[in-house]
Amino acid sequence: MPLPLQSNDSRILVLAPVGNDAHVTADLLREAGSDCRISPDLQDLVAEIPNGCAALVVAEEALGPASEAMLIQALRPQPSWSDIPIIIVTSKGADPLRLYQRLTLFDSSGIVTLLERPFRPITLVNAVQAATRARRKQYEVRDLLLERQRILSGLESTVEHRTAELREANAQLEELVYTIAHDLRAPLRAMQGFSTVLLEHFGERLDDHGRDYTRRITAAAEKMDNMTLDLLSYGRMARSEVTLRPVSLDRVWKNAVAQCERIIQDTGGKVVIEEPLPTVLAEEPILTQVCSNLLSNALKFVKSGEAPRVHVRSEIENGSARIWVEDNGIGIPDQYKERIFRVFERLDGSRYSGTGIGLSIVRKGVERMGGRVGVESEPGKGSRFWIDLAHPPLPHLSGKQN
Ligand code: ADP
Repeated sequence: MPLPLQSNDSRILVLAPVGNDAHVTADLLREAGSDCRISPDLQDLVAEIPNGCAALVVAEEALGPASEAMLIQALRPQPSWSDIPIIIVTSKGADPLRLYQRLTLFDSSGIVTLLERPFRPITLVNAVQAATRARRKQYEVRDLLLERQRILSGLESTVEHRTAELREANAQLEELVYTIAHDLRAPLRAMQGFSTVLLEHFGERLDDHGRDYTRRITAAAEKMDNMTLDLLSYGRMARSEVTLRPVSLDRVWKNAVAQCERIIQDTGGKVVIEEPLPTVLAEEPILTQVCSNLLSNALKFVKSGEAPRVHVRSEIENGSARIWVEDNGIGIPDQYKERIFRVFERLDGSRYSGTGIGLSIVRKGVERMGGRVGVESEPGKGSRFWIDLAHPPLPHLSGKQN
């Protein structure tokens, strides 16, 4: 529904400084139902335009080169929806060439109609009514634009509000998970401790079944303890302060390989790092954990009996560094490529050990450092995990060296 017109939106501004023309014109238009305002001179007309008008009726006598320029200047700052209709009442026997020039002069500033004297009153009324109708359409466009703007800004603030709420709810959930994981450890350790004591001190009094069950309790409690420990490190990753600094990826990967030394030896794995790797904006302990999680997965998820091969390389593009961690492992089906980054999501839990949190820590860590992580893979053809992080520009070296 169009908005109601502003009080001045429908008025006709009349400028006819010679004789009684202005009053005759205004009376005629008022009689036909139009709201009119007579301007004594061009300055007044120009000053009134921004306060709203449906059309201008200007007698040619009021226009000379300077006043034309003034009028064009006044019409120029119209908004995109507005094109004020101008009716120029030309002098009797006006030079046709001059009239044509007037038309093209105003062409880009308003819709111009030339009304040659003498004309019948109905011709003027008709021209003004046509102009007013055209102007009304312009107001409808204005209203639509205003409405669109109102809806868009409403949507924007709703989205902002919802995002803030979600972020808050997420932070609260992460806090809760952290607290639960923390509080679970004490009873878990009690279970582990008592089942070990049970086996060591009372094992002889139990039969084979009893000893088997007790071992299972110990193993289950240990598994749960590992999960809570991983949840705690996930929670720490989500909550801790992150300060980004330039970090050498060469050093980070040396540390990550050192952390995985044991599994590399056990599996006969080979890790090739294409040095030099770039410097990235990161927090070093987080990045080291991210890289060692990706490396230990790459070493772990291979077909049994096959030696893992891991290749680490980098690419730089548009101020961002991409680090690839490629393996020759079992690969990941397409439909799981997103899910594996969620907490506790595991694809082949019976064959491979783990808690299902390693990749959630990777994603959370990378996101907290302002980066992104993803994977390309095909079952049976290995996986290529990637991380994007900001690559800081090298410090400028001046030509002068000491
Ligand atoms: P976890 O290693 O403890 O199982 P992660 O969160 O690190 O947990 O990984 C989740 C799941 O994603 C794994 O259980 C595995 O199914 C799959 N996955 C992760 N890395 C690889 C890889 N390099 N190759 C194949 N599958 C992988």
